[in-house]
Amino acid sequence: SKTQVGFIGLGNMGKPMAKNLLKHGYPVIATDVFPESCKELQELGAQIVDNPAEVADQADRVVTMLPSNPSLSRLLTGYVPNGSLKVKKGSLLIDSSTIDPAVSKEMAVAAEKMGAVFMDAPVSGGVGAASSGKLTFMVGGVEEEFTAAQELLTCMGANVVYCGAVGTGQAAKICNNMLLAIGMIGTSETMNLGIRLGLDPKLLAKILNMSSGRCWSSDTYNPVPGVMEGVPSGNNYQGGFGTQLMAKDLGLAQTTATNTKTPVPLGSLAHQIYRMMCARGYASKDFSSVFQFLREDEEN
Ligand code: NAD
Repeated sequence: SKTQVGFIGLGNMGKPMAKNLLKHGYPVIATDVFPESCKELQELGAQIVDNPAEVADQADRVVTMLPSNPSLSRLLTGYVPNGSLKVKKGSLLIDSSTIDPAVSKEMAVAAEKMGAVFMDAPVSGGVGAASSGKLTFMVGGVEEEFTAAQELLTCMGANVVYCGAVGTGQAAKICNNMLLAIGMIGTSETMNLGIRLGLDPKLLAKILNMSSGRCWSSDTYNPVPGVMEGVPSGNNYQGGFGTQLMAKDLGLAQTTATNTKTPVPLGSLAHQIYRMMCARGYASKDFSSVFQFLREDEEN
């Protein structure tokens, strides 16, 4: 029979991911600081414990799905109550949160000191993909351990891509989201300009999508209400990928760009635009609401 898998962080993403591990027959031992989020998983047969230390004590493979860097570094010291990482020798720690790759590297060093292996495996795809087990995992870490990680990740994802040394999974994820943000803002301001110039938005989108301006934001996730069905712009920007999460990922991109002295002028501007949106009440709306943000002064 399959051996127990630890899961830390049962939020929007973590809960459905852990459910898929159960579905594939893995006994799951899990924890979350919020006891509420553990209930459903417990009912499905997972063992719930009080803290990460207990998870690391019992499972030799642990998946983490946490909000951001501070929570992950806190967790790093939270595997044991007194402060330093303590995990079983030979255990495999897989972190699927989106964090600064520099933190992933620190985690890997700390894990290695304990005779354990740490891999970063951030995901692309939202809550829907997490529920249906169709996530894409971008994996960084020692290549010899990839097969072991893959065995678990394929229960939760449709694509599991090896990227290179630890931190490169995060790098791929951060780069993708920076381009996504830039593309979404570009699509939004372009659509808005066209509308102001008298073009029908549906027609403009159609033309863009058969021309060189086409991108994912124009052809599969158009930000203009009424252009497409089944996207957040058609549903008052509810659901989808939150502006606040996008702002967080753009902040990570800025940090990595600063650390590597890499110019990212459009990434910086995109970060500031999404930060402004958070301050103006868009935090929990889908990130395509930047179109609405750009039209706030429509009446003037
Ligand atoms: P979330 O806030 O819903 O879930 C995080 C969970 O971690 C919460 O339940 C919280 O209580 C728990 N937690 C925090 N600190 C803890 C600790 N020390 N010990 C135990 N539990 C702790 O966030 P989410 O939407 O599930 O996202 C998780 C990660 O996945 C983020 O890094 C996010 O950027 C990334 N991500 C999210 C999406 C998405 O669409 N939501 C898509 C791709 C990637």
